[in-house]
Amino acid sequence: MFEGIPVDVSPIYEGERIRKGQYYVELAGPKSKGAELARVLPMEEVEDEKVTIIGPDIDQMEEGKAYPFGLYVKIAGDDLETDLEGVFERKIHYYLNYIQGFMHLNSRDLIWCRISKDSFKKGLRLHHVGKVLIKMYKKEFNAVKKVEVIIYTDPKEVDKFIEEARSIYEKRDARLRGLKDEDADVFYSCLLCQSFAPSHICVITPNRPGGCGAVTWLEGRAAVKIDPNGPIGVIEKGKCLDPVKGEYEGVNRYVQEKSGGKIQRVFLYSLFDNPHTSCGCFEAIAFYIPEVDGIGIVHREFKGMTPIGLPFSTLAGQVGGGVQSNGFLGIAIEYMRSPKFLQADGGWYRVVWMPKALKERLKAAIPSELYEKIATEEDAKDLDSLKKYLYEKQHPVVKKLKEKESKEVTEEKKEEKVQEPQKEVIQQVQQIPVTMQAQPSTQIVPNFTIILKNAKIYAEKIIIKKK
Ligand code: SF4
Ligand code: ZN
Repeated sequence: MFEGIPVDVSPIYEGERIRKGQYYVELAGPKSKGAELARVLPMEEVEDEKVTIIGPDIDQMEEGKAYPFGLYVKIAGDDLETDLEGVFERKIHYYLNYIQGFMHLNSRDLIWCRISKDSFKKGLRLHHVGKVLIKMYKKEFNAVKKVEVIIYTDPKEVDKFIEEARSIYEKRDARLRGLKDEDADVFYSCLLCQSFAPSHICVITPNRPGGCGAVTWLEGRAAVKIDPNGPIGVIEKGKCLDPVKGEYEGVNRYVQEKSGGKIQRVFLYSLFDNPHTSCGCFEAIAFYIPEVDGIGIVHREFKGMTPIGLPFSTLAGQVGGGVQSNGFLGIAIEYMRSPKFLQADGGWYRVVWMPKALKERLKAAIPSELYEKIATEEDAKDLDSLKKYLYEKQHPVVKKLKEKESKEVTEEKKEEKVQEPQKEVIQQVQQIPVTMQAQPSTQIVPNFTIILKNAKIYAEKIIIKKK
């Protein structure tokens, strides 16, 4: 398919998994660091078809190790808007997975890549990776005129790049914060993840970015302009059926059609009943904790246990695949900054636990009176310690918990009162002889009789068995 690339490049490799023992090296990921960034720049700032590697290439890396990795794609074209950056950036995931023996997971500063031993042996190097990206953008988007790729593997350069990428992500996300779902004329959909989660449709609104965090409403708008038949489409909102839960007639109609009838209704701002589907590349998971009637949140980077005894990876396995899981939801980090964040369920006031790093990152979005009341892994490692912490801090969920507990106690008492007269005394005698026979093997114990004096025996059931 591609001249000058020593391995095959095709969508058939998209689902290829490169497991432990099969990879030559790992780039970015949990054992190292990295980021990817696509930018739309003026024509004169992009040197077409140029690939630059800053730091060691794969053949200078040690087998089995993980290395820092920054991937910067500069794009220029006549009618390209900067709003397209997120869409172009998301494409990196797909294009790199087309390369035989190259695996790319996640997005933004959470990327994780592996290069297989086989493809390394065939001669695959980082400059080939850059060349594939350049060709793919030009092939898929007529409006793209110039593409340049810079790959960083030098640790210091990667650090600088991650900082720069984060500031760009932040600027992109901030542009949308003033816009409300009510004000948008249409919503957008992204079907990119249907390749592995067939009934998954990301509904992208100003207050709710796609689960991967890479596609926002502005990017959706820019994408349909340059690629009207592409994976990003327009959703006519239709009538708002429930402004609190975020149910729209047009959204329901759209997901019914695109999921082949598997999904009937979607509540954009709730974790319950008809939550949004989750594919697999979400940045975080919101999960209901019934024991405290609260919501926990765990993000992809957190490697520890949540207080329900499951790590992110196990939860992700249960939540993903394009299904609606009541009480579980894959979300973008930016959605937690949205005024509509789980608003039907109480929003931040229902959040009881999240990793410390995530809590600090979202400090500005969390209501200040609530900040100390949300437990982290340092405050609560299991349900008991979580409950204790929430009571100590007087978290808003405690009020409801106390009400529920006192209601349960009253109901138990009521039940006792109601049940007592129903119990019938079926035998009330002064003395009941109970004769027990010793087992043949324990013949040393003689037969004996137990006498129950003044005993009252109540029974809900009498079972008579034939010997
Ligand atoms: Fe598109 Fe959603 Fe997949 Fe992101 S997670 S690529 S927005 S379908
Ligand atoms: Zn996805």
